[in-house]
Amino acid sequence: MKHSPIFSGVFALLVFTASSFGEARAVGLPGPAFPKFQTAAEVKAACASGLASAKKRLAALERRKLDTGWLAAFDDYYAHQEDVQYPIEFVLNVHPDKAVREAAQACAMAWSEYNTSFGQNEKIYRALKSAPTPTALDRELQRVNLGSFEDAGVALPPAKRKQAKTILVRLAELDQKFSQNLRDAGVKVSFSEAEMKGVPEGVWAKAPRDEQGRIVLGVDYPSSGPVIQMAEDPAARERMWRAKNSEGGDANLKVLDEITQLRREYAKLFGYSNYVDFNLRRRMAKDSATAWKFLNEVKSQVSEREVADMAQLRAAKAQHLGTPVEATQLQAWDSAFYGERLRQAKFSVDQEAFREYFPAQESLQFAMRVIERLMGVKYTRVTADLWHPEAQAYAVSDSASGKPLATLYVDLFPREAKYNHAAVWPLRSSATRIGRTPTAALVVNFNRKGLTLGEVETLLHELGHAVHNNLSNTHYALQGGTSVMMDFVEAPSQMLEDWVYDKKVLQLMAEVCPSCKPVPEALVDKAVAAKEFGKGSQYGRQHLFASYDLALHGPEHQQPLPLWAKMQGATPQGYVEGSKFPAGFAHVAGGYGAGYYGYLWSLVVAMDLRTAFAADKLSPETGLRYRNSVLGQGGQKPAPELVRDFLGRASNAQAFSEYLNR
Ligand SMILES: [Zn+2]
Repeated sequence: MKHSPIFSGVFALLVFTASSFGEARAVGLPGPAFPKFQTAAEVKAACASGLASAKKRLAALERRKLDTGWLAAFDDYYAHQEDVQYPIEFVLNVHPDKAVREAAQACAMAWSEYNTSFGQNEKIYRALKSAPTPTALDRELQRVNLGSFEDAGVALPPAKRKQAKTILVRLAELDQKFSQNLRDAGVKVSFSEAEMKGVPEGVWAKAPRDEQGRIVLGVDYPSSGPVIQMAEDPAARERMWRAKNSEGGDANLKVLDEITQLRREYAKLFGYSNYVDFNLRRRMAKDSATAWKFLNEVKSQVSEREVADMAQLRAAKAQHLGTPVEATQLQAWDSAFYGERLRQAKFSVDQEAFREYFPAQESLQFAMRVIERLMGVKYTRVTADLWHPEAQAYAVSDSASGKPLATLYVDLFPREAKYNHAAVWPLRSSATRIGRTPTAALVVNFNRKGLTLGEVETLLHELGHAVHNNLSNTHYALQGGTSVMMDFVEAPSQMLEDWVYDKKVLQLMAEVCPSCKPVPEALVDKAVAAKEFGKGSQYGRQHLFASYDLALHGPEHQQPLPLWAKMQGATPQGYVEGSKFPAGFAHVAGGYGAGYYGYLWSLVVAMDLRTAFAADKLSPETGLRYRNSVLGQGGQKPAPELVRDFLGRASNAQAFSEYLNR
């Protein structure tokens, strides 16, 4: 699952002090240099001084006169918090030193507590409510942030407000506990070398061995994915699949149960019977009825394809094993394996074959060139002292005027204890009123031998999030970049994903790497055809995740595992006795709870946005219009208006529907 930690609104802040940014600016980067954090003591000191200065600034804001400058002062307060909190929460995920990460973790908890209290700060709430708002931007900022305060319980009667705070504190602890159970469980699975037949050596050759000399693998994606997808031995696949699908175990099922009950209680404090309606009221979907209606429409369009996909996979298994189809059962750990085999047999496309055409560093330059061409910007690599010697820094500037716009950090390769998926951390938001330039960090884990086409797609998706932050041109930091509705935030990234299947776009690779062999067109054609195959299973699965999440947060209390067994049991794949998928479903325990449908929802919007680029995916005119009317606006307007401004009409699901049915 590709997703990025996106922090929006005043309470979801991460944040650094001015002092930890230091005097020394990296030459050529707009904005401050990245704080270095060599030791845990430095993190602790920065954390303490950051919290102390936030408190001091808060006290000053509470006393401040309510004039036309109040919103700017409120925004200054937020911007300072970004500077002191976000880099610490970021290094928690990438720093090579364990002690530094642990200090950062403690700091994240301290900020979480601080923010829960801030959410119930009546003085600030009342001031925000009566602050002068002469412009439309002011009114939108006021509307959105009053909503955040109200969601935190500030406007409730005192007894309920107290209950709300208790619940929020407990929910933050439980969310941490859920992730910690996953991290600390350190689930390992052992395999003989023979069992690794079919799995690329890069996955296991350097892995540690147990006393019997067996290969010991974790269940992290870079290890579990290839084993489940490529191990020829079904018992090996099953062992890894079961380990991966029970991660978190009974402990996390209990945590998740408590989380969903607390969320329901929380929604009831506000007069809602369920958490979905409470949670969606400020999003594009607005309420649970609309979200369910949307999911049911998706379901009606993918059901048949999903059944057909399963039948093909089952036939492939029967053929492979030489068994009659009727007597062949397709197990959960067979789907990815036979999916890959079918893709290779039908389309003779081997994703591994792409690596020689897409060296990692050149692929990054290629993705940047796409953005440069489309959006009228320029990336310049700059020397900077960062959290790891392999991390890179780029200055982003406007190509027409040469004006410095933003900073981008990139961390491309895997290493011990680094965040092991792909994500973007917005570290700093734009604010034109004070000349504040935005900063984002892009973190991925690519193979040093090069990228598959699927990974180039991931890279462009993540760069899409970074660009959303970097090209934001908002007056207030509070409205910068990715501070948009949660069910819209993935759309700009999802939109760019299919750029990598466009031959004109792929030709840009030759510009950034004249010595690279051009990827053969036939290979790309095959990849495009292969992508079509398996659409039914892919969206069927997304539909299951999204509807499970909504059902779990509905009006009735549901035990996480029995509900999952029932819902997965009703799909063509069926439920595997003994598996505990919800125990590892961190999205639902964390910020995506009652919001997972947002991935599908924003994909519909993304496909609609793509229609404007149908004639030319590199059109600088359309790209610039998109940069100005969508990316540049950040959260200055509600998402449906941004889309309407760009497309000249309201968003609809026609493009998505055509894609599913073609
Ligand atoms: Zn994403």
